[in-house]
Amino acid sequence: MNNQKKDLGLYIHIPFCVKKCDYCDFLSAPANDDTKRLYVKALIAEIDSLKEVVSEYLVKTIFIGGGTPSSIDGTFIIEIMKAVQNVFELDVQDIEISIEVNPGTVTKEKLLAYQQAGINRLSFGLQSTDNLELKKLGRIHTFETFVDNYNLARELGFKNINIDLMSALPGQTLSSWLTTLNKVIELKPEHISAYSLIIEEGTLFYTRYSEDDQDEELDRVIYRETKDTLEKAGYYRYEISNYAKAGYECKHNSSYWMRTPYLGLGLGASSLIQNTRFHNEENLMEYIKLSNDYRNIRREMDKLTLNTQMEEFMFLGLRMQKGISTKTFEQEFKVSIESVYGDVIKQSIKEGLLIAKENNLYLTDKGIDISNLVMSRFIFE
Ligand code: SF4
Repeated sequence: MNNQKKDLGLYIHIPFCVKKCDYCDFLSAPANDDTKRLYVKALIAEIDSLKEVVSEYLVKTIFIGGGTPSSIDGTFIIEIMKAVQNVFELDVQDIEISIEVNPGTVTKEKLLAYQQAGINRLSFGLQSTDNLELKKLGRIHTFETFVDNYNLARELGFKNINIDLMSALPGQTLSSWLTTLNKVIELKPEHISAYSLIIEEGTLFYTRYSEDDQDEELDRVIYRETKDTLEKAGYYRYEISNYAKAGYECKHNSSYWMRTPYLGLGLGASSLIQNTRFHNEENLMEYIKLSNDYRNIRREMDKLTLNTQMEEFMFLGLRMQKGISTKTFEQEFKVSIESVYGDVIKQSIKEGLLIAKENNLYLTDKGIDISNLVMSRFIFE
């Protein structure tokens, strides 16, 4: 029966943090207990309002992100997940349910609540093991706090844990990065994400640093060393910035790169449903006021043209190590990939940026180094 249903990913946004980090431009802010309670009520109202329209979907992955989901009571997470289970059909045998947690906000009660809510994957925002770097970033925790939280999660039986790290920090050296990486490897997480910091306008970092404070060449060296170091430790790169032990790739994020439909729930959350992209209301009070009918909070509905769908297929799919399947392209768009992108593909292969193997196309290491440029070639003028 389930075979007839379409796969769906759910993203649930918890927009609260203990304090704003100095580099952060996410939709997140500190809030008092009353606001948190009101928000959770509103989020559940949004979920309940979807009951009539989601029966054709089978939920394969859920990602509770933020903000800092671990900054709210564990009981709230249980309530939210109960509402989800009442409204959506979940693929109970195989579902991946992740929650983002930040060191310093994790307690035994919360971790037990997550298990009660069915959560089977934790994603820790660590960023660095160097306490001075953490301080510079405006994080609330030290490395030691993280290790305590991580060990507690292991003791309680969490078997699938990601650790987020961040490179290209002003003042970071190759040696400080490798220290971070090696300390994290010693902890044996199943998954490691390593993104480069982007200094965004509107953040404290933007007022404090300029582009000159980030060394692009060093970041490239760090990228290569990261891949080598992690490969030696048994992690393989399955996406430009993501590494996992075999079988522990993040299914939820992979579904973004494969353009599986996903529904964002909560403040500002983005969705891709029936080739339409949209996001929820971004103003917290408006969201709380209107969320009892999902139709009232959807903003910037953008029905993607066929060209945009093809572009996304290429530049999202090429982020993955396995690349894109030319067969899937053909099935989805009813034309051969050669007839649309033949010249670009040929040129990129000739320049050593792309590899065509069997029915797959993927980036070479050289292609990954300049991935933005390669991907931009797949955008129609
Ligand atoms: S914890 Fe994450 S979401 Fe919250 S302020 Fe820091 S970087 Fe932003």
